[in-house]
Formats: sequence, structure tokens, C-alpha cells
Amino acid sequence: MTNKKLWGSEEFWGLGYSWDPQWLLTPEQGELQSKLIDLCQSTLRENAVESDQKRLFPRKNFEALATLGLLGLLVPKELGGLGQNHTCAAMVVETIARYGCPSTAMCYTMHIGAVAAAMFRSHDNSTIRNLMKRLDRDVLIGTLSYSDPETGSHFWYPVSSGAERVYGGWQVRKKASWTTSGGFADWYVIQTTSPDFAGDYSNLSYFLIMGDKVKAEPSKWDGLGLRGNQSGTLEVDNVTVPKDHMLGPVGDGAKSNDEVVDPFFLMCSSACWNGISLGLIDLAKRHTTAKKHVDVGMRVCDYPTIQDYIGEALIDTNTCRAFVFQMAKALDQLTKDCDWSIHKELTNLPRSTVLHWMWQVKFAAAKNVAHVADKMLHACGGTGYKPALGIERYLRDGKAGWVMGPTNEVLRQFVGKAVLLGFESLDYWNQAVNERVLQNELKKLDKKGKQKLAESRGEIASTKPRQ
Ligand SMILES: Cc1cc2nc3c(=O)[nH]c(=O)nc-3n(C[C@H](O)[C@H](O)[C@H](O)COP(=O)(O)OP(=O)(O)OC[C@H]3O[C@@H](n4cnc5c(N)ncnc54)[C@H](O)[C@@H]3O)c2cc1C
Repeated sequence: MTNKKLWGSEEFWGLGYSWDPQWLLTPEQGELQSKLIDLCQSTLRENAVESDQKRLFPRKNFEALATLGLLGLLVPKELGGLGQNHTCAAMVVETIARYGCPSTAMCYTMHIGAVAAAMFRSHDNSTIRNLMKRLDRDVLIGTLSYSDPETGSHFWYPVSSGAERVYGGWQVRKKASWTTSGGFADWYVIQTTSPDFAGDYSNLSYFLIMGDKVKAEPSKWDGLGLRGNQSGTLEVDNVTVPKDHMLGPVGDGAKSNDEVVDPFFLMCSSACWNGISLGLIDLAKRHTTAKKHVDVGMRVCDYPTIQDYIGEALIDTNTCRAFVFQMAKALDQLTKDCDWSIHKELTNLPRSTVLHWMWQVKFAAAKNVAHVADKMLHACGGTGYKPALGIERYLRDGKAGWVMGPTNEVLRQFVGKAVLLGFESLDYWNQAVNERVLQNELKKLDKKGKQKLAESRGEIASTKPRQ
């Protein structure tokens, strides 16, 4: 691999390899990255503008990614995939977002999450293994549909969804408020409560649903940024699927969330936010080194204020990148470089042990991209405010980071609460009683108030005379 970063036949106009942590990549991963940068230059970046303007799903970009085998990035070589690891997945998403198309990077993030959920429980499932073999050949795009209209960003709590056991399989229903690639993906991994969940919302299962079984309304999708990602509503309306379309055993959903869906989403989406931050810095470098002020004979980049903006943005972004790649390496170490065979033992869940680190990774990257986007806009002045420069589109795309579930409000609370009160205090499924709050509120009631409360809860018979 050449040390000079190329953009087609020219030297890349943004930051060179001296500012990239190339030492983290194997020679094979370095080769893949340079081919991917070429693909971004020839295809993905131009399509990004069209996707944004027309709210067009970036299928053309997925077709291009499939030529490099990237849909099967995590699929083992014996199934025809690239057999790559977490570090490589983070590099690929960052590269697509930075040089190519952030909408494609987010759709690809969801595809990677869906592949991970499928591979996690693929061992005795020939349907999954056959699907994994065809990902690149037939450009089969996957996605995750978890969020529920009734519970917002608490995507682990699907109250509008469920499943029943029926002869030969499962009848599945799902309502999702947001699904990246909704209506355009070829296959979906969806989460519902388990059959016979008996009101226990921590009892979750997840299913493979093929694209022809879902109802989506892509024409209704609209958003500030990531406009190509088509994150619209989705419905699976009591669809019957064969037995092996449930991934893993009944009730495996929470384990799958902690072991694969969350770690991969948090890692890859963070890589996407970092890629957008770097894309913004690249654009700001190109613009500020070219624009001159004739009166003072200076370029914009000659002002120390602008140098400070770029310096701080890059230092903060490389801190976030270092965090993503540190955790990607940790995941590689824990899983023998993403060897799916370790999960033949169903209770082997090594990624789950560092999930709280992945929360921190996402918080940092999503917080940083919003700040970098503002500062790079400031550095480019009014020209940055106009769509032609590209800063404006990256800024809108980056704003999705903070609000995508788990949102940054939720994540910082998870971390702070877990530190102060212990992990058990997080109570994802609203099952633990907060004795302190309860006792404090009860303390405020007099005897009559307590009696009224007990009556209202049906615990004692009403003392009111019957009418
Ligand atoms: C571009 C994009 C793509 C997406 N793609 C997908 C996808 O592919 N699949 C999928 O399943 N979902 C997807 N989502 C959905 C996403 O994960 C969230 O579910 C969604 O953004 C929640 O929106 P909401 O309006 O319901 O927010 P709300 O949950 O109503 O949040 C509103 C505010 O309340 C805060 N808040 C919520 N809960 C708490 C709490 N416990 N403590 C403190 N503050 C809290 C939030 O942080 C936020 O500030 C996507 C979202 C976006 C923006």
C-alpha cells in the first residue's frame, strides 16, 4: 500500500495518512481500506449528494460495496465471506462515512448489526447459513427493526409487538417507529416479546423476516439528515414464519441485545460519527487552504483562530477514534477475532462484559460530531452554510448521532447511575421498586390519603356509602 492517500489519480485533498491510525490495520485490512477509498471516490460520494437531495435509498452504493465483498465482511470464509473482525468493521464504516456517504454508512451499520445477530445463532440453522452465503452475490441488504412507537428510544421494550407459536412455526407481529432501510432491505431482524411472555417484557425473542413480508411506507420518510437512510415506519402484520426464522432459542433476545446487537451498533455507529467528523475536517482543510482574502494577503487557513479550530477538532476526533478502535480490539481479543464458533456454547457471551464501555464510546463520538460540525461550519464561514461545499450536509447527517437510541441522555444516565448505584439500578424493564421514592411519597400522605390510595388500588373495600 502506498503511503500517499490517493483520490483517483491525484493526492487526497483532505488529511493524509499521517493523521490516521494505520498501525491498527493488518496489511489485508489496509488493502481493503484503500480499495474502499477508491470506490468512494468513483461512486459512493457522488451518489451521496443524490441520496440526500432526493431522499433516495443508496442501493447503488450497496451494489458497489458488494463488489468488494463487504456485505459479508463478518461472514466466515467457509461461507464465502471475508471473515473479518471488529477492527475491520469499524474501519469500513468510518471510511464509508468519511469519504463516501454517511447515509450508506448508517444503512451499512444496521446491516452489520443484522448479520451479527444472525451469525450469533447460525450454528444449527441452515436458512441463516444459506442467506449469509448469498449476501454479496445477490446484494441482500439486512437491517434491524427494534424501536417501538410506544416506547420511543427505549428500543429494548417492544410493547406493540409479539409472537405466538403456531403449527410449524411462529406468528409474528411488529410495529416499528423507525427502521433504517425500511421498505428497501431484503431481510430484517426484528425483536418482539417471546411467545408466552406473560407480561415480562424482559422476555424477548427475535426473528428473521424477509422483505416481502413487511409493510413499510418509505414515501413518508423525512429527516434533517441521513436522508438516504429511509428510516421510516415498519409493520409485520401477523406473518407466519417457519420455525427456524426465530434466531436462537425462545427468550434469547436480551442476551442477543447485549452480546451482538448493541455492541455492533454502538461500535459501528460511533465509527460513522467519527467518519463524519473527519469528513468535515477534510472539507474545512480544502476550503480554508484555498480561500484568499486579497486585502490582507492571507488565506483563511493562515488565521490562528482557524488553525485552532482544526487542531482542536482533530485532537477530539482522534480521541474518539482511539476509543472506538481500543474497544474494537478488546472485542477482537474477547472473541478470537470475531470467531462465531465460540457461540456454539449458548452461554458464552464475552462482548456483554464490556457493554458499558460501548455506551461510553457512542456517547463520546456522537457528542463530538455535533461540536466538530458546528466548528467546521464556523471555520468555513458563509460558504460553509451553502450546500455546495458539503459541510452543510455532513452537519445535518452528524446531528443524528446524539438522538439515535440509545440517546446520549440515556447513555450518560446509564453510566452515572451504574457508577453511583450499581448496574442493577438500571432496571431496563421497569421491574424494580424504588423504595426510597415510594417511602418518601407515602410519608406525605395522612391516614385518609393512605386509605384513599389503598381503595383506589383495590386493596381494601371502599368505606364510601353506596349510592
Ligand atoms: C436517523 C435515524 C435512524 C434510526 N434507525 C433505526 C433503526 O434502524 N432501527 C431502530 O430500531 N430504530 C432506529 N432509530 C430510532 C432510534 O433508535 C430511537 O428509537 C428514536 O430516535 C427515538 O425517537 P423518539 O422521538 O421516540 O425519542 P424519545 O424516546 O421520545 O426521546 C425524547 C427525549 O427524551 C429523552 N429520554 C428518553 N428516555 C430517557 C430516559 N430514560 N432518561 C432520560 N432521558 C430520556 C431522549 O434522550 C430525548 O432527549 C433511528 C433514529 C434515527 C434518528
